[in-house]
Amino acid sequence: MKSSYRSRLVGVFGSPVDENPSVVMNEAAFAAAGLDWRYITMLVEPQDLAAAFAGLRAMNFEGVNLTIPHKVEGMKYVDEISPGAKLIGAINHVVRKGDRLVGDNTDGKGFVEGLRHAGMELTGKSIVVLGAGGASRAICVECALAGCTEIQILGRTASKAGEIADIVNNNACIARALPWEGTARIPACDILINATSVGLAPDPNCPDIRYEDIVPGMFVQDVIPNPLDTLFLQKARQRGAKTGSGLSMLVQQGAIGFTLWTGQKAPLEAMQRAMEQENASQ
Ligand code: NDP
Repeated sequence: MKSSYRSRLVGVFGSPVDENPSVVMNEAAFAAAGLDWRYITMLVEPQDLAAAFAGLRAMNFEGVNLTIPHKVEGMKYVDEISPGAKLIGAINHVVRKGDRLVGDNTDGKGFVEGLRHAGMELTGKSIVVLGAGGASRAICVECALAGCTEIQILGRTASKAGEIADIVNNNACIARALPWEGTARIPACDILINATSVGLAPDPNCPDIRYEDIVPGMFVQDVIPNPLDTLFLQKARQRGAKTGSGLSMLVQQGAIGFTLWTGQKAPLEAMQRAMEQENASQ
Protein backbone atom coordinates (compact mmCIF):
# COMPACT_ATOMS: atom_id res chain seq x y z
CA MET A 1 0.00 0.00 0.00
CA LYS A 2 1.19 3.55 -0.74
CA SER A 3 1.40 6.01 2.15
CA SER A 4 -0.78 8.48 0.19
CA TYR A 5 -3.09 8.13 -2.80
CA ARG A 6 -3.63 11.89 -3.05
CA SER A 7 -1.79 13.59 -5.93
CA ARG A 8 -0.74 17.23 -5.46
CA LEU A 9 -2.72 19.41 -7.85
CA VAL A 10 -1.72 22.43 -9.93
CA GLY A 11 -2.80 23.61 -13.38
CA VAL A 12 -3.83 26.56 -15.49
CA PHE A 13 -6.96 28.74 -15.67
CA GLY A 14 -7.63 30.34 -19.06
CA SER A 15 -10.11 31.05 -21.83
CA PRO A 16 -9.43 29.96 -24.50
CA VAL A 17 -7.08 27.37 -23.01
CA ASP A 18 -7.51 24.15 -25.03
CA GLU A 19 -4.44 24.92 -27.20
CA ASN A 20 -2.21 25.78 -24.20
CA PRO A 21 0.61 23.18 -24.08
CA SER A 22 1.85 23.95 -20.51
CA VAL A 23 0.51 20.61 -19.30
CA VAL A 24 3.01 18.75 -21.48
CA MET A 25 5.99 20.57 -20.00
CA ASN A 26 4.80 20.43 -16.39
CA GLU A 27 3.77 16.76 -16.43
CA ALA A 28 7.17 15.92 -17.99
CA ALA A 29 8.83 17.85 -15.17
CA PHE A 30 6.88 16.03 -12.43
CA ALA A 31 7.62 12.64 -14.03
CA ALA A 32 11.35 13.44 -14.34
CA ALA A 33 11.48 14.61 -10.71
CA GLY A 34 9.56 11.53 -9.50
CA LEU A 35 6.78 13.67 -8.00
CA ASP A 36 3.16 12.54 -7.72
CA TRP A 37 1.84 15.92 -8.96
CA ARG A 38 -0.79 16.59 -11.65
CA TYR A 39 -1.16 19.65 -13.92
CA ILE A 40 -4.72 20.19 -15.09
CA THR A 41 -5.81 22.48 -17.95
CA MET A 42 -9.02 24.23 -16.87
CA LEU A 43 -11.38 26.31 -18.98
CA VAL A 44 -12.44 29.21 -16.74
CA GLU A 45 -14.58 32.04 -18.12
CA PRO A 46 -14.03 35.56 -16.73
CA GLN A 47 -17.37 35.58 -14.83
CA ASP A 48 -16.37 32.31 -13.08
CA LEU A 49 -12.91 33.36 -11.89
CA ALA A 50 -14.00 34.04 -8.27
CA ALA A 51 -15.67 30.61 -8.07
CA ALA A 52 -12.64 28.96 -9.65
CA PHE A 53 -10.35 30.48 -6.99
CA ALA A 54 -12.77 29.37 -4.24
CA GLY A 55 -12.63 25.85 -5.71
CA LEU A 56 -8.84 25.99 -5.85
CA ARG A 57 -8.73 26.79 -2.13
CA ALA A 58 -11.43 24.22 -1.24
CA MET A 59 -9.65 21.41 -3.11
CA ASN A 60 -6.25 22.29 -1.66
CA PHE A 61 -4.53 22.92 -4.97
CA GLU A 62 -0.84 23.75 -4.51
CA GLY A 63 -1.23 26.61 -6.98
CA VAL A 64 -2.19 27.52 -10.52
CA ASN A 65 -0.99 29.34 -13.62
CA LEU A 66 -3.14 32.13 -15.04
CA THR A 67 -3.27 32.84 -18.74
CA ILE A 68 -5.41 35.03 -21.00
CA PRO A 69 -7.67 36.75 -19.84
CA HIS A 70 -7.04 36.26 -16.10
CA LYS A 71 -3.56 37.74 -15.51
CA VAL A 72 -4.79 41.13 -14.25
CA GLU A 73 -8.15 40.15 -12.75
CA GLY A 74 -6.55 37.22 -10.89
CA MET A 75 -4.73 39.70 -8.64
CA LYS A 76 -8.03 40.27 -6.78
CA TYR A 77 -8.23 36.67 -5.57
CA VAL A 78 -4.80 36.14 -3.99
CA ASP A 79 -3.68 37.17 -0.50
CA GLU A 80 -0.26 38.49 -1.45
CA ILE A 81 1.52 39.69 -4.62
CA SER A 82 5.29 39.70 -5.21
CA PRO A 83 6.90 43.16 -5.62
CA GLY A 84 7.88 42.43 -9.25
CA ALA A 85 4.34 41.35 -10.18
CA LYS A 86 2.93 44.49 -8.51
CA LEU A 87 5.18 46.60 -10.72
CA ILE A 88 4.14 44.64 -13.82
CA GLY A 89 0.48 44.82 -12.80
CA ALA A 90 -0.31 41.18 -13.59
CA ILE A 91 0.20 37.67 -12.18
CA ASN A 92 0.59 34.42 -14.11
CA HIS A 93 1.59 32.15 -11.21
CA VAL A 94 -0.06 31.40 -7.87
CA VAL A 95 1.41 29.28 -5.09
CA ARG A 96 -0.36 28.18 -1.90
CA LYS A 97 1.62 28.82 1.28
CA GLY A 98 -0.41 27.32 4.13
CA ASP A 99 -3.85 28.87 3.68
CA ARG A 100 -2.54 31.91 1.76
CA LEU A 101 -2.31 32.27 -2.01
CA VAL A 102 0.69 34.22 -3.30
CA GLY A 103 0.71 35.68 -6.83
CA ASP A 104 3.85 36.17 -8.90
CA ASN A 105 4.79 36.92 -12.50
CA THR A 106 7.30 34.53 -14.05
CA ASP A 107 7.06 35.74 -17.69
CA GLY A 108 9.76 38.42 -17.51
CA LYS A 109 12.00 36.39 -15.21
CA GLY A 110 11.72 33.44 -17.61
CA PHE A 111 12.63 35.75 -20.48
CA VAL A 112 15.75 37.00 -18.68
CA GLU A 113 16.80 33.42 -17.75
CA GLY A 114 16.28 32.33 -21.36
CA LEU A 115 18.64 35.07 -22.55
CA ARG A 116 21.21 34.08 -19.90
CA HIS A 117 21.10 30.48 -21.13
CA ALA A 118 21.81 31.81 -24.63
CA GLY A 119 24.90 33.57 -23.22
CA MET A 120 23.34 37.06 -23.15
CA GLU A 121 23.84 38.97 -19.90
CA LEU A 122 21.71 42.11 -19.60
CA THR A 123 23.96 44.28 -17.43
CA GLY A 124 24.74 47.52 -19.28
CA LYS A 125 22.80 46.47 -22.38
CA SER A 126 20.43 48.56 -24.49
CA ILE A 127 17.29 46.84 -25.73
CA VAL A 128 14.47 47.63 -28.14
CA VAL A 129 11.11 45.98 -27.44
CA LEU A 130 8.40 45.70 -30.09
CA GLY A 131 4.87 45.76 -28.62
CA ALA A 132 3.42 47.11 -25.39
CA GLY A 133 1.10 44.37 -24.10
CA GLY A 134 1.41 42.13 -21.04
CA ALA A 135 4.51 40.24 -22.22
CA SER A 136 6.29 43.48 -23.12
CA ARG A 137 5.47 44.95 -19.71
CA ALA A 138 6.88 41.93 -17.85
CA ILE A 139 9.98 41.80 -20.06
CA CYS A 140 10.73 45.54 -19.69
CA VAL A 141 10.37 45.46 -15.88
CA GLU A 142 12.59 42.37 -15.45
CA CYS A 143 15.20 43.54 -17.98
CA ALA A 144 15.49 46.83 -16.06
CA LEU A 145 15.84 44.90 -12.78
CA ALA A 146 18.48 42.69 -14.48
CA GLY A 147 20.68 45.72 -15.28
CA CYS A 148 19.70 47.03 -18.73
CA THR A 149 20.68 50.67 -19.03
CA GLU A 150 18.45 51.63 -21.97
CA ILE A 151 15.01 50.33 -22.98
CA GLN A 152 13.13 51.65 -26.01
CA ILE A 153 9.56 50.45 -26.53
CA LEU A 154 7.85 50.61 -29.91
CA GLY A 155 4.10 50.52 -29.45
CA ARG A 156 1.33 50.67 -32.01
CA THR A 157 -0.79 52.14 -29.22
CA ALA A 158 1.42 55.00 -27.99
CA SER A 159 -0.28 55.32 -24.57
CA LYS A 160 0.53 51.69 -23.65
CA ALA A 161 4.20 52.06 -24.62
CA GLY A 162 4.35 55.34 -22.67
CA GLU A 163 2.90 53.68 -19.58
CA ILE A 164 5.61 50.98 -19.64
CA ALA A 165 8.34 53.58 -20.12
CA ASP A 166 7.00 55.50 -17.09
CA ILE A 167 7.07 52.37 -14.90
CA VAL A 168 10.59 51.38 -15.92
CA ASN A 169 12.36 54.73 -16.26
CA ASN A 170 14.74 55.45 -13.35
CA ASN A 171 18.27 56.64 -12.67
CA ALA A 172 19.84 53.31 -13.61
CA CYS A 173 17.78 52.66 -16.75
CA ILE A 174 16.57 55.19 -19.32
CA ALA A 175 13.29 54.03 -20.83
CA ARG A 176 11.40 55.76 -23.62
CA ALA A 177 8.43 55.03 -25.84
CA LEU A 178 8.79 55.39 -29.59
CA PRO A 179 5.87 55.79 -32.00
CA TRP A 180 5.10 52.91 -34.39
CA GLU A 181 3.30 53.98 -37.53
CA GLY A 182 3.82 52.06 -40.77
CA THR A 183 7.23 50.42 -41.18
CA ALA A 184 9.16 51.19 -37.98
CA ARG A 185 12.84 52.18 -37.94
CA ILE A 186 14.85 50.21 -35.35
CA PRO A 187 17.32 52.28 -33.32
CA ALA A 188 20.82 50.91 -32.63
CA CYS A 189 20.71 48.45 -29.71
CA ASP A 190 22.29 45.27 -28.33
CA ILE A 191 19.09 43.20 -28.21
CA LEU A 192 15.92 43.48 -30.31
CA ILE A 193 12.83 41.72 -28.93
CA ASN A 194 9.53 40.91 -30.62
CA ALA A 195 6.97 41.06 -27.79
CA THR A 196 3.97 41.50 -30.09
CA SER A 197 1.63 38.64 -30.91
CA VAL A 198 2.53 38.94 -34.62
CA GLY A 199 3.75 35.59 -35.95
CA LEU A 200 1.98 33.34 -33.44
CA ALA A 201 0.63 30.30 -35.32
CA PRO A 202 -1.47 30.32 -37.47
CA ASP A 203 -0.34 33.92 -38.24
CA PRO A 204 2.59 33.61 -40.72
CA ASN A 205 3.47 37.34 -40.65
CA CYS A 206 6.28 39.31 -39.03
CA PRO A 207 6.27 42.73 -37.35
CA ASP A 208 6.31 45.66 -39.78
CA ILE A 209 9.83 46.99 -39.16
CA ARG A 210 12.73 48.01 -41.40
CA TYR A 211 14.74 44.75 -41.34
CA GLU A 212 17.74 46.51 -42.95
CA ASP A 213 18.23 48.21 -39.53
CA ILE A 214 19.21 44.82 -38.03
CA VAL A 215 23.00 44.44 -37.98
CA PRO A 216 25.23 41.40 -37.27
CA GLY A 217 26.16 42.48 -33.71
CA MET A 218 22.53 42.44 -32.52
CA PHE A 219 20.90 39.56 -30.67
CA VAL A 220 17.31 39.16 -31.85
CA GLN A 221 14.82 37.38 -29.58
CA ASP A 222 11.20 36.39 -30.20
CA VAL A 223 8.57 35.68 -27.53
CA ILE A 224 6.50 33.56 -29.92
CA PRO A 225 6.93 29.92 -28.87
CA ASN A 226 5.01 28.46 -31.83
CA PRO A 227 6.36 28.24 -34.52
CA LEU A 228 9.88 27.92 -33.15
CA ASP A 229 11.46 29.64 -36.15
CA THR A 230 9.29 32.67 -36.92
CA LEU A 231 9.61 34.77 -40.08
CA PHE A 232 10.90 37.56 -37.79
CA LEU A 233 13.83 35.38 -36.66
CA GLN A 234 14.50 34.14 -40.20
CA LYS A 235 14.74 37.72 -41.48
CA ALA A 236 17.01 38.69 -38.58
CA ARG A 237 19.38 35.80 -39.37
CA GLN A 238 19.45 36.86 -43.03
CA ARG A 239 20.82 40.18 -41.73
CA GLY A 240 23.58 38.28 -39.85
CA ALA A 241 22.12 38.60 -36.34
CA LYS A 242 22.11 35.78 -33.76
CA THR A 243 18.59 34.76 -32.74
CA GLY A 244 16.67 33.05 -29.93
CA SER A 245 13.16 31.55 -30.04
CA GLY A 246 10.26 32.03 -27.59
CA LEU A 247 10.64 28.45 -26.39
CA SER A 248 13.45 29.48 -24.02
CA MET A 249 11.11 31.95 -22.24
CA LEU A 250 8.33 29.36 -22.05
CA VAL A 251 10.56 26.66 -20.59
CA GLN A 252 12.38 29.00 -18.19
CA GLN A 253 9.18 30.54 -16.82
CA GLY A 254 7.84 27.00 -16.39
CA ALA A 255 11.02 26.04 -14.53
CA ILE A 256 10.74 29.05 -12.19
CA GLY A 257 7.09 28.13 -11.56
CA PHE A 258 8.00 24.48 -10.86
CA THR A 259 10.50 25.58 -8.20
CA LEU A 260 8.02 28.01 -6.62
CA TRP A 261 5.50 25.16 -6.30
CA THR A 262 7.71 22.22 -5.32
CA GLY A 263 10.75 23.87 -3.74
CA GLN A 264 12.92 21.70 -6.00
CA LYS A 265 15.29 22.48 -8.86
CA ALA A 266 13.43 22.07 -12.16
CA PRO A 267 14.43 19.27 -14.57
CA LEU A 268 15.08 21.75 -17.39
CA GLU A 269 16.24 19.25 -20.00
CA ALA A 270 13.12 17.09 -19.61
CA MET A 271 10.91 20.16 -19.92
CA GLN A 272 12.73 21.44 -23.01
CA ARG A 273 12.67 17.99 -24.64
CA ALA A 274 8.95 17.56 -23.97
CA MET A 275 8.16 20.90 -25.62
CA GLU A 276 10.41 20.20 -28.62
CA GLN A 277 8.72 16.82 -29.14
CA GLU A 278 5.29 18.43 -28.79
CA ASN A 279 6.20 21.10 -31.38
CA ALA A 280 7.59 18.47 -33.75
CA SER A 281 4.41 16.37 -33.50
CA GLN A 282 2.19 19.22 -34.77
P1 NDP B 1 -1.14 41.30 -25.51
O1 NDP B 1 -2.40 41.12 -26.30
O2 NDP B 1 -1.20 41.86 -24.14
O3 NDP B 1 -0.12 42.23 -26.35
C1 NDP B 1 0.10 42.07 -27.72
C2 NDP B 1 0.88 43.27 -28.23
O4 NDP B 1 1.15 43.09 -29.62
C3 NDP B 1 0.12 44.60 -28.10
O5 NDP B 1 1.01 45.60 -27.71
C4 NDP B 1 -0.38 44.84 -29.53
O6 NDP B 1 -0.56 46.19 -29.84
C5 NDP B 1 0.79 44.28 -30.30
N1 NDP B 1 0.41 43.97 -31.67
C6 NDP B 1 -0.49 43.06 -32.10
N2 NDP B 1 -0.56 43.07 -33.44
C7 NDP B 1 0.33 44.01 -33.87
C8 NDP B 1 0.71 44.50 -35.14
N3 NDP B 1 0.19 43.99 -36.26
N4 NDP B 1 1.65 45.46 -35.20
C9 NDP B 1 2.19 45.97 -34.08
N5 NDP B 1 1.87 45.56 -32.83
C10 NDP B 1 0.93 44.59 -32.73
O7 NDP B 1 -0.46 39.86 -25.50
P2 NDP B 1 0.75 39.38 -24.59
O8 NDP B 1 1.67 40.51 -24.38
O9 NDP B 1 0.21 38.67 -23.42
O10 NDP B 1 1.42 38.29 -25.52
C11 NDP B 1 2.16 38.68 -26.67
C12 NDP B 1 2.81 37.44 -27.27
O11 NDP B 1 3.73 36.92 -26.33
C13 NDP B 1 1.81 36.32 -27.58
O12 NDP B 1 2.08 35.84 -28.87
C14 NDP B 1 2.12 35.25 -26.56
O13 NDP B 1 1.97 33.96 -27.11
C15 NDP B 1 3.59 35.52 -26.28
N6 NDP B 1 3.99 35.07 -24.95
C16 NDP B 1 4.98 34.14 -24.89
C17 NDP B 1 5.40 33.65 -23.68
C18 NDP B 1 6.48 32.64 -23.65
O14 NDP B 1 6.69 32.04 -22.57
N7 NDP B 1 7.20 32.40 -24.73
C19 NDP B 1 4.81 34.12 -22.41
C20 NDP B 1 3.80 35.14 -22.58
C21 NDP B 1 3.41 35.58 -23.83
P3 NDP B 1 -1.85 47.01 -29.32
O15 NDP B 1 -1.60 47.22 -27.86
O16 NDP B 1 -1.81 48.25 -30.11
O17 NDP B 1 -3.03 46.14 -29.60
